[in-house]
Amino acid sequence: MNTIENKIFTGKVAFVTGAGTGIGRATALAFSRQGASVVITDVTAETLQQTAQLIEQEGGCSLAIPCDVTQTGAVKAALDKVIDTFGRLDYAFNNAGVEQPKIPLADIDEAEWDRIVNTDLRSVFLCMKYQIPLMLQQGGGAIVNTSSGAGVKGIPGQGAYAAAKHGIIGLTKSAALDYAAQNIRINAVCPGIIETPMMDRFSGGTEEGRQQVIAQEPIGRMGKPEEIASAVIWLCSEGGGFAIGHALVVDGGQTV
Ligand code: NAD
Repeated sequence: MNTIENKIFTGKVAFVTGAGTGIGRATALAFSRQGASVVITDVTAETLQQTAQLIEQEGGCSLAIPCDVTQTGAVKAALDKVIDTFGRLDYAFNNAGVEQPKIPLADIDEAEWDRIVNTDLRSVFLCMKYQIPLMLQQGGGAIVNTSSGAGVKGIPGQGAYAAAKHGIIGLTKSAALDYAAQNIRINAVCPGIIETPMMDRFSGGTEEGRQQVIAQEPIGRMGKPEEIASAVIWLCSEGGGFAIGHALVVDGGQTV
């Protein structure tokens, strides 16, 4: 456990979407271990409470807000509550997302396309749209958006997901240029195959399915959610202070 002296985010406030499980939960815990008050949000209230308990057990401070990131009103209300409660927003990790079942492009129906793109891409636009004015008011901040290996290369059967994840990188780079001079740093993280509930569902949860996805990883294993969390912490930290509009690939060599 870090002592107060070497916690890098003491007195700061971080906002994490998709914080109920997986990468979001690990990153919420990582922000908390660095001394930040963490606003944790997720569409699933039950897992969100579990994340809140984990933070509390470690002596951290969290505020859990159930929030569906596809809904403008919910995103705005969550960010209003951040300001009402803490009076500031220093870091945002826009991470909530859903996987796409493997389907060739022409077989994706329009409703499925809209579901994936709304949840994985439009949500990041919505979150940043309402986070950035809060950061501008206080003179700066840092935002990290979760893209994917599917944001830097094509993947068969993943047309909608890859379009959304490539889109996050374009959105991140453009927004980063809009606000770099105003002390808001906006970057993306691109995880490889990470051991989370999403990857369990994607791989079918069987040993055979696991081995098939691990076979895509030159490192010979899945990544841990904490290995993405530490990249997000670095991007938000002073140490990452010269990183602007970067899409940081953390993927065991999957896309090399
Ligand atoms: P996960 O399923 O464990 O966590 C995703 C969280 O997002 C869940 O808690 C879920 O309830 C939440 N969520 C889903 N829809 C939401 C909505 N509309 N509003 C609010 N919350 C919502 O998955 P994960 O693996 O931790 O994924 C986190 C992010 O990382 C996603 O954006 C995913 O696309 C990305 N990613 C994951 C991997 C991987 O291998 N696991 C690889 C690359 C990118």
